Amino acid sequence: MSLTAESVWNNCLEFIKDNIQPQAYKTWFEPIIAVKLTENALSIQVPSKFFYEWLEEHYVKILKVALTKELGKNAKLVYIIKMENTYGNKQPFTEKIPSSNRTAVKSQDVDIPLNNKSPELRNPFVIPGIRNVKIESQLNPNYSFDNFLEGDSNRLARSAGLAVANKPGGTSFNPLLIFGGVGLGKTHLAHAIGVDIKDKYPEKTVLYISAEKFTQQYIDAIKKNNRNDFIHFYQIIDVLIIDDVQFLSGKSGTQDVFFHIFNHLHQNGKQVVLTSDKAPVDMQDIEQRLLSRFKWGLSAELQTPDFETRVSILKNKLYRDGVEMPEEIIDYVAKNIKTNVRELEGAIISLIAQSSFNKKEITLDLARIIVEKFVKNTKREVSIDYIQKVVSDYFQMDIDTLQSKTRKRHIVQARQLAMFFAKKFTKASLASIGSQIGKRDHATVLHACKTVDNLSSTDKQFRKYVEDITKKLSV
Ligand code: ADP
Ligand code: MG
Repeated sequence: MSLTAESVWNNCLEFIKDNIQPQAYKTWFEPIIAVKLTENALSIQVPSKFFYEWLEEHYVKILKVALTKELGKNAKLVYIIKMENTYGNKQPFTEKIPSSNRTAVKSQDVDIPLNNKSPELRNPFVIPGIRNVKIESQLNPNYSFDNFLEGDSNRLARSAGLAVANKPGGTSFNPLLIFGGVGLGKTHLAHAIGVDIKDKYPEKTVLYISAEKFTQQYIDAIKKNNRNDFIHFYQIIDVLIIDDVQFLSGKSGTQDVFFHIFNHLHQNGKQVVLTSDKAPVDMQDIEQRLLSRFKWGLSAELQTPDFETRVSILKNKLYRDGVEMPEEIIDYVAKNIKTNVRELEGAIISLIAQSSFNKKEITLDLARIIVEKFVKNTKREVSIDYIQKVVSDYFQMDIDTLQSKTRKRHIVQARQLAMFFAKKFTKASLASIGSQIGKRDHATVLHACKTVDNLSSTDKQFRKYVEDITKKLSV
């Protein structure tokens, strides 16, 4: 029977599968395609440079064993990196790495130019003198890698973050997109990367900003007619960290300007770090060209921490606060609060506070009461019905009026606000929001969201409505 690339690789896979964790196998081996076999060299195609680096760093030994078993001691492995459609409409980018002769499974460095040698000199936009302006990083030094505890749920994101911090702009994790649910540590990790870079490379300009603030700044810049200054400012940043990019959904102007800034930074080997509450595939109303760029580097998910990690997070918190707590209480809290690290910390903080204010001993009963409050309070997700009720109460109208077809300005505004908050506070799609708020279509909802955005930045009274209702919805 003659060997084919596929048969050789399948045999390797069988061996590898038996020797590593199923999840790791799925993540790192299933996406590989065997492409070619020539004598003793097997070529495999991997989806990104990061993928290749990860394999080399973590699985080189097992690959070597597997391949030697199949092809003898002179076996070689050749990686072919095939990235998803990258720059515009160009052909997919393929790179072949010749294998070295010395070791069986070892490839030469993948040499993707990173252009990060004094890119400022090539930057035609730099405003003379602006580089002397000190840019405050807006980083929170309390969020560090040291106190970001590692677990299976965050290992990939955390290590990628560390790699970026060691070599900003110099790894293939560019952009690094950290995504995951509420309270799982996205903001913490994003800051930690920035803080660590500032520590290692004090001369680098690092900037942390939320997508919301970025949007606000952009709107202000448009108003003041200095869009270009805005762009230039962002183009001189070495490490740009934007938190909660899902906020850019539906905001095409801000997306457009971010697209230009992103391209500029990326081309000049600057590092971009993004966080989002969703994976790129699930982001709605973000332009395709921007989404495809989010996928250029690495998207790393923060998952809900397992029990052990939750216990170590709690213990670390207690240790830092110099508080002692019985093991069984820590266990109880960790067992019962599972999906959100912020809540986990919140519960332990109330527990400490309760016991010290009331001079009560921390008992399991007290823990039970507090945890119950936490779990109950946070379970209540705001529903679209509730939003309609709050908005119509606020404007002293009934829900039927809010939903009616009338074009009276104040009613239209109330309806638009309800749609805006439904988009903001629920996971419902535009279409489903529309159908629940007076049977409108998704375009109407989208228009409503944009109108509210516009009005709240131009109209003081209207902004007050938004703030008031936000408060009512958040209690
Ligand atoms: P997100 O931005 O994802 O909503 P945050 O970064 O604000 O979440 O995290 C919420 C809280 O949980 C913060 O106080 C953060 O320090 C803490 N936290 C999250 N993950 C970890 C972790 N792995 N180790 C220690 N603290 C964590
Ligand atoms: Mg956050």
